[in-house]
Amino acid sequence: MKLVLATRNAHKLEEIRAIFDFKGMEVLSAFDFPDVPDVVEDRDTLEGNAEKKAVEIALATGCWSMADDSGLEVAALGGAPGVYSARYAGEACSYAANNEKLLKELAGETDRSARFRTVLALSNPAGDVRTLEGACQGRIIESPRGGNGFGYDPLFVPKGYSETFAELDASVKNVISHRAVALEAARLEWAELLSAG
Ligand code: IMP
Repeated sequence: MKLVLATRNAHKLEEIRAIFDFKGMEVLSAFDFPDVPDVVEDRDTLEGNAEKKAVEIALATGCWSMADDSGLEVAALGGAPGVYSARYAGEACSYAANNEKLLKELAGETDRSARFRTVLALSNPAGDVRTLEGACQGRIIESPRGGNGFGYDPLFVPKGYSETFAELDASVKNVISHRAVALEAARLEWAELLSAG
C-alpha cells in the first residue's frame, strides 16, 4: 500500500514518521509530488482542512492519503488561534511572530490554560475520507523556553510537566502530544484500512 502524508511541513513529517509504525506501507509525502500544488487551507475548522488536504492529495496522486491539521486552542482567547494557528500574526508569518502575538494577547491574563488539538484525516484514492482527533492539555508560559520542536512548542507546558514541549526531548513529546494521541487512535481505529488499502 502506498500512503502519501499530505504535508510539506518537515517538522510534522519527522514527528509522524517517528511516532507511527507504518509497517509494510510505502510512505511518501507531498515533497515526492512537486507538481501537485499546495492545498489551500481555507476551511474554518481543523476537521475541514484535514479532510480537504487528505482528499485533494489522494485524488491528485491516486494513492491513499493521510493529513494532519493541528492548532493551539487557548481558553482565555475563546479557543484562538485554533484553526488559524499557522497564520495568527499574519499570512506567511514566522513561528516567532506567532509566539510574540500570543504572549501579547495573553498579557496580564491569569488563566493560561490551553490545549493542542490534531485532526487526522484518511482518504482512499477515490476521495472517501474519515477523521479522528487527539488533544494534549497544558498551559502557556510568560516567555519562550527551549530549542526543540516547532511552532508554539517553546510556550506550551503540557499538563504534568514543568518543561515546555521545546525543552522536552522529542522522545517524550512524541508520546504525550496531540499528534501522538491522534496517531494512537489511528493505529487502533484504522488498523484494517491501513493494512488492507
Ligand atoms: P497546520 O496543521 O499545518 O495548519 O499547523 C498549524 C500551526 O499550528 C503550525 O504552523 C504551528 O504553529 C502550530 N502547531 C501545530 N502542531 C504543533 C506542535 O506540535 N507544536 C507546536 N506548534 C504546533
